[in-house]
Amino acid sequence: MDIQLNEFQLALQSGVRKFVEQDVIPDAMRYEHNDEYPHAIVNKMKDLGYFGALVPEEFGGSEMDAMSLVVFTEELSRGWMSLTGVLGSHSMVGWLIDKYGNNTQRNNWLPEIAKGEMRFGIGITEPDGGSDVASLRTTAKRDGQNYIVNGSKMFITNSENATHFGVMVRTNPNAEKPHRGISCILVKRDLDGFKVSRHLDKLGYKGIRTGELNFQDCAVGVSNLVGEENRGFQQLMSALELGRIQVASRALGLHRACLEESLSYAQQRKSMGKPIVEHQAIQLKLADMATSLEAARQLTYKAALMKDNDQRCDMEAGMAKLFASDACQRASEMAIHIHGGYGYIKELPIERYYRDSILLQVGEGTNDIQRIVIAKRLVEKYPVD
Ligand SMILES: Cc1cc2nc3c(=O)[nH]c(=O)nc-3n(C[C@H](O)[C@H](O)[C@H](O)COP(=O)(O)OP(=O)(O)OC[C@H]3O[C@@H](n4cnc5c(N)ncnc54)[C@H](O)[C@@H]3O)c2cc1C
Repeated sequence: MDIQLNEFQLALQSGVRKFVEQDVIPDAMRYEHNDEYPHAIVNKMKDLGYFGALVPEEFGGSEMDAMSLVVFTEELSRGWMSLTGVLGSHSMVGWLIDKYGNNTQRNNWLPEIAKGEMRFGIGITEPDGGSDVASLRTTAKRDGQNYIVNGSKMFITNSENATHFGVMVRTNPNAEKPHRGISCILVKRDLDGFKVSRHLDKLGYKGIRTGELNFQDCAVGVSNLVGEENRGFQQLMSALELGRIQVASRALGLHRACLEESLSYAQQRKSMGKPIVEHQAIQLKLADMATSLEAARQLTYKAALMKDNDQRCDMEAGMAKLFASDACQRASEMAIHIHGGYGYIKELPIERYYRDSILLQVGEGTNDIQRIVIAKRLVEKYPVD
């Protein structure tokens, strides 16, 4: 499959590439190693309209389709993967509001989301588990014109920098099937009864904040419910198709960074009288990195094209996320080996690629959960009577 990017996607690609070269790469190492939130870079992303990537044009966004989101995310991730985290859950909540919210919500919130004035995190995972979303325990009990929210959310990206959170809550504890009692509600961070109860230090994905959210009798207006009550699980599954395509695209960017830097280094570093690229052991690694990147790209593009054609693509998005993140993780290890001792030293970004790659295998549903999604869909598609 040879996919030609359209004019918009080519312009987007070169625009983000330029931003990454000029504004991200020179400072990423400093922010990373100080674990410092990159306010200057994020403000530039705001000026460039990146917070409105998925928001329709009529509300001031760029109205990117899934394929454009892949191109955009790959370029950003190639510079510094943490920046894709600033936008990932933000864009996903905006997408949920656009798809399932009412007109008042769309008119009031989408322009602010596009401008980056309202910034989102998403709260799905809880301290007791993230894989089994249907069993989540945070409750939202109706009380007049409010829901009273109680519970906790764990590992939440943008915990300290989001102005709002899209929170998955249980609105019907007596639903016949647990997944039919879940809703999505928007919580503003300054509400009474809401707090970020814990900052979590991480192996990688530095600079942006990850934390635990706590809700204690937190009153949230019913007008903040996104879409129909008790339909949150189905809404989330649809958003996760896009989320997994986005994570696969992060892997493409990180994988490409590993390959580009290894290819360049291998032609300059000499050992035993010749550039190491002339040693077959190095050639084998480079070939494996390039081949798996190409395969990951094909899977990711295929899932994105299906999403853009309104086709169900949970299996394809799962395959893209599974394959691209595993391939990226292997590529980051090979990049360390190609760079020898320098690969392990913080003066180069190679060790960062290794630390960041592992998150891609865990987040947005672990890779084993992707395997389960893929297998279930296979049985659905090919039943034996
Ligand atoms: C840095 C970071 C940022 C994150 N950001 C967010 C965020 O913004 N919002 C959010 O909601 N979540 C976020 N997460 C959470 C992430 O999505 C979860 O960690 C992930 O979905 C796994 O959930 P868990 O950690 O509870 O693991 P568990 O669900 O406890 O799983 C533990 C292990 O058991 C395996 N397992 C579980 N169930 C099964 C099964 N049925 N069959 C086979 N194996 C199984 C899993 O594959 C895994 O290996 C983030 C996580 C990290 C590390």
